[in-house]
Amino acid sequence: MPSLLGNIFKGWTDYSKGVEEGGHHEYEHMYAMVIDLDLCTGCNACSTACYAENNLAVVGEDKFGARQAMHWMRIERYFDEPDLDKTEATTDADTQSRGASFLPMMCQHCNAAPCEPVCPVGATYHTVDGLNAQVYNRCIGSRYCANNCPFRVRYFNFYDNAESWPAPMDQQLNPDLSVRSKGVMEKCSMCLQRTRAARDTAKREGRELKDGDIQTACQQTCPTSAILFGDLLDEDSAISKVWKNHQVKLGTYKQDKENPELRGYRIFEELNVDTKVLYLERVREV
Ligand code: SF4
Ligand code: SF4
Repeated sequence: MPSLLGNIFKGWTDYSKGVEEGGHHEYEHMYAMVIDLDLCTGCNACSTACYAENNLAVVGEDKFGARQAMHWMRIERYFDEPDLDKTEATTDADTQSRGASFLPMMCQHCNAAPCEPVCPVGATYHTVDGLNAQVYNRCIGSRYCANNCPFRVRYFNFYDNAESWPAPMDQQLNPDLSVRSKGVMEKCSMCLQRTRAARDTAKREGRELKDGDIQTACQQTCPTSAILFGDLLDEDSAISKVWKNHQVKLGTYKQDKENPELRGYRIFEELNVDTKVLYLERVREV
């Protein structure tokens, strides 16, 4: 008889699948991202664009220091040499030339998202676009989801943060999505408002959505084109080709690559949460 643990893991793997494979989700699209770390210079333009597009509050230095920042997309720095971050490097270009690497980190839109089953009110759920979404009006602020997210990419509104947009700056808020209030959890939606707008435009024009119709704000802004967004269910899309070329597959927790030299990898794959952000390793010239 299969063990209880075996059943849990089997159920968990099924959780990430579409109904046609015996899973739980009915997918119309499977939006995903590729980030080429060899192209990323750590300039933070993507993060800034995310603030503007998604009405993120700028909380100020004190709250940032208290880990109450609302940055849906944060740029993580890693150093080859120990203590390089404590040397006199002053600019990103300086630190990069001395061995720093940058990694844009945001919600990985796990297909088997650990944040979803723990929400007591179903405020975080999977969309038909294959994205992990958040219903702000339903969120009661229990913060269970943030505790269960292995990537630490959920951000909680400890305050109303209205001072973040003093007049006339409130005029520049994006009307396509709400400003979240105190007590509500939020995180990267892969610019859900843009995917919905593109879908509606295509419908109005009586055509199918095509590859390239949707650009996320971070992708649009990146000066080195390090970010690619698209639909993995469209076999001809640019993103499907990159995933295929790097032999990275959804639904597996350990990639079995014919060519181990390929640069594509997913973070915390061994957790079996089936993330949909593919990173391409930085190439070192030593
Ligand atoms: S990265 Fe975290 S917030 Fe995003 S889907 Fe996965 S568990 Fe949920
Ligand atoms: S905008 Fe592009 S280059 Fe700049 S930090 Fe973001 S991913 Fe890296």
